[in-house]
Amino acid sequence: MIDFSLSDEQKLLEQSVREWGSKEVAPFIRENDRRHHFDRERILGGMAKLGLLGISVPQEYGGAGMDYVCLGLASEELEYVDTSLRVIMSVHAGLNCLTLLTWGTEDQKKRYLVPQAQGRKIAGYGLTEPSAGSDVRGMQTTAVRKGDRWVISGEKSWISLADVADNFLVFAWTDQEKKKQRDPGGISAFIVERSFKGFSSGPMKEKWGILAGNTGFFKMDEVEVPEENVIGRLGEGFKIAMFALDQGRFTVAAGATGLIRACRDASVAYAKQRKTFGVEIGQHQLVKEMIAGMESDYQSARLLWLRSGWLKNNGLRNTRETGLAKWFATVASERAAGDCVQIHGANGYSDEYPAGRFYRNCKGAVIYEGTREIHKVMQADYLLGYRVDRPTRCELPAHSEGVKSQV
Ligand SMILES: Cc1cc2nc3c(=O)[nH]c(=O)nc-3n(C[C@H](O)[C@H](O)[C@H](O)COP(=O)(O)OP(=O)(O)OC[C@H]3O[C@@H](n4cnc5c(N)ncnc54)[C@H](O)[C@@H]3O)c2cc1C
Repeated sequence: MIDFSLSDEQKLLEQSVREWGSKEVAPFIRENDRRHHFDRERILGGMAKLGLLGISVPQEYGGAGMDYVCLGLASEELEYVDTSLRVIMSVHAGLNCLTLLTWGTEDQKKRYLVPQAQGRKIAGYGLTEPSAGSDVRGMQTTAVRKGDRWVISGEKSWISLADVADNFLVFAWTDQEKKKQRDPGGISAFIVERSFKGFSSGPMKEKWGILAGNTGFFKMDEVEVPEENVIGRLGEGFKIAMFALDQGRFTVAAGATGLIRACRDASVAYAKQRKTFGVEIGQHQLVKEMIAGMESDYQSARLLWLRSGWLKNNGLRNTRETGLAKWFATVASERAAGDCVQIHGANGYSDEYPAGRFYRNCKGAVIYEGTREIHKVMQADYLLGYRVDRPTRCELPAHSEGVKSQV
């Protein structure tokens, strides 16, 4: 039986995030965007109070214990207000916390996951490097064993929350022979703390979108990391990085869906207020076409991420479905934001209205967590039989409440 209704818990969560966003963030977001200001206290403090920073982490590890559909709902509501808010869900709650939950040891969960889920520590994800984005194997960061420690050297770039996060999930080559052969079995995953000696970070200069958020680089100059901070087994880093992307992409898909809704609502409001040729511009068929397109994109994108959340709740592999949801929603959000600017005419070309911010913000998601092209190739490869998902050693835990409420 298919049930499209949300449970009471899911509705309550959606409502709480919506209220907080509209009252506590929306009135300040334009100014923060203009000033390139990440309002740490207001945003992270508010999100922690709502339990969003550990939303789908079980209560025994300091989280709110909500299902994965709640994670999606929160992402959608947050990006409705501004992309910078949803990015926090993607890197902290999605890429980092859910990876620790799935691949971390009990000791790692106690030391890192608990404070992160409680919102006392913020976490990021460091995969991309100046010479390696889509081509992960092109990364140059290395980790060399020294007694019971690993010495990591390298630079990660375009990292969300680089200047903000306390802990990072970092990927590095631990097998130099495999690095030469570009064999991803030579990559391992580590937790690196900002407080470790040799760690430094800075902002990405001249970034032109997600301006109320923080994006930067970090350098590791012979950073010594204890053996206990290796996530998973040695050589499992590539698999762990890809696993994390299944969770991050889910939040990006739901977030981009929220951005489409924001474009739709702003467009409807403006189309009823602006007049040309003696009528509201909403009366013109070509304007209606753009608004109708936003609605069909919104509804389709929402169904795709909901299906992905349902698969996660049921403990089913969802790499293919989550990738499709992310690809569709982000490309559709670019379409919606472009049309939102168009409907606003010259006013859309000014930051006096939110359309311009939506337009700048949407583009990042068409690039990060797998570019549009990488996702196209992935979907074609599934169809052609060139790509098959094999079970991994650790799988995201199913969510029993979510399963009960929807099956
Ligand atoms: C705002 C923002 C935040 C980010 N946050 C993070 C973060 O927190 N952590 C992190 O690790 N990274 C982050 N990234 C980096 C992001 O994941 C990379 O930018 C992305 O993976 C693309 O890599 P690239 O920029 O090196 O582009 P490239 O890989 O150099 O690609 C350039 C172009 O070539 C195309 N291309 C490449 N290979 C192929 C192929 N095989 N087939 C067809 N086309 C191809 C791409 O689609 C793209 O159009 C962030 C990026 C941005 C913009």
